Amino acid sequence: MNKVVKFGGSSLANAEQFKKAGEIIMAEESRRYVVPSAPGKRHSGDTKVTDMLYGCYRLAEEGEDYSNQLKAIKERFYEIIRGLNLELSLEEDFREIDDNFKNLAGQEYAASRGEFLNGKIMAAYLGYTFVDAAEVVRFTSEGTLDMDATDVLMGAKLENLPNAVVPGFYGAEESGKVRTFSRGGSDITGSLVARAVCADMYENWTDVSGFLVADPHIVKNPAQMETITYRELRELSYMGATVLHEDAIFPVRKKGIPINIRNTNCPDDPGTMIVESTCKRPRYTITGIAGKKGFCSINIEKSMMNSEIGFGRRVLQVFEDQQISFEHIPSGIDTMTVYVHQSEFEDKEQQVIAGIHRLVQPDFVEMESDLALIAVVGRGMKSTRGTAGRIFSALAHANVNVKMIDQGSSELNIIIGVENRDFESAVKAIYDIFVMTKL
Ligand code: ASP
Repeated sequence: MNKVVKFGGSSLANAEQFKKAGEIIMAEESRRYVVPSAPGKRHSGDTKVTDMLYGCYRLAEEGEDYSNQLKAIKERFYEIIRGLNLELSLEEDFREIDDNFKNLAGQEYAASRGEFLNGKIMAAYLGYTFVDAAEVVRFTSEGTLDMDATDVLMGAKLENLPNAVVPGFYGAEESGKVRTFSRGGSDITGSLVARAVCADMYENWTDVSGFLVADPHIVKNPAQMETITYRELRELSYMGATVLHEDAIFPVRKKGIPINIRNTNCPDDPGTMIVESTCKRPRYTITGIAGKKGFCSINIEKSMMNSEIGFGRRVLQVFEDQQISFEHIPSGIDTMTVYVHQSEFEDKEQQVIAGIHRLVQPDFVEMESDLALIAVVGRGMKSTRGTAGRIFSALAHANVNVKMIDQGSSELNIIIGVENRDFESAVKAIYDIFVMTKL
């Protein structure tokens, strides 16, 4: 058994959290490769080290004095070192960081130091080998991940190491220039390490016991998901459910490596398993509910639209020309509606209307804003009759007016459009009907 364990920022925010992570790693010999984030918030009003680094580097760029900020960052690391009783000096590292800040080595370099230093501490604490991610995670000169090169470099480096710490979030171009992933990107590093060593499991340790069926800000104490497939997760994260970085899925998915989301503060909780496929029946018909506010609908009506070949293509051409991506396009015989993000659409509204008039000469165009989309996702829906019926009767009982319905042909999800102000009650109603009544 060979596991990769990634710990998020809140799991490594201070020495106390570090000790919990250490205990978890030591509890199983198979936990051989460790991917740490930078120290996160110690309490709700605190600042993540990554944000401190961004702020400090901004001052350097503006030619301002940043020494106090760098000192505060240093203190965050020394607080951990002292708390763990380690004999470790980061003086040399901080001298180098200071020089590189002075030479304006780049914002991505600056941000990456949180993981770099935390990785050094973790390696010293565990007695594992430290592997600088700049050597094994390869970025292209455009700043995107080069997965194949990474696989080769990482595989070759880790092959002969019985255990190692590889800091998350960053890598480097062939020239050595440090690059980072987008925020939360240590999840991707974990996935890359798991792929390179052909791990049996990628454990992602965070501060929640896995995925929840619905957003806890909307539903009180929502149930937890035991198992979710990659496809379900993709649907839910697209609609706003965040626990794992979206790009962390691709490297392991191809190799069939499962991801287990676990809670550092409750290590006995089994967490959520993310798998390619499963014959396990989900506990409820639905696996999860997620949604987002802030959409607009553009409803285009023209009699005899159904027989006008190329109508849809021309409408979508208008959106493409304006660089607006569309979310859904429900249609009727003489109507076609395009759902778009309000923030992308608002400024270009008049150009879009003019474009539609020019290209398809509609009878009229009508728009509505402040709409929300809700995705009800579940592999169990395919084999269960009446799922849609239940959703809509629950929404009717909750006095929610449904503006749009879209069931994907995979029968993995049903998308529902409602007004922004009905969003929370709609999510609650759907949750209640499937989870509280266990239907
Ligand atoms: N430290 C980085 C961030 O705060 C990356 C990570 O934690 O995954 O976004």
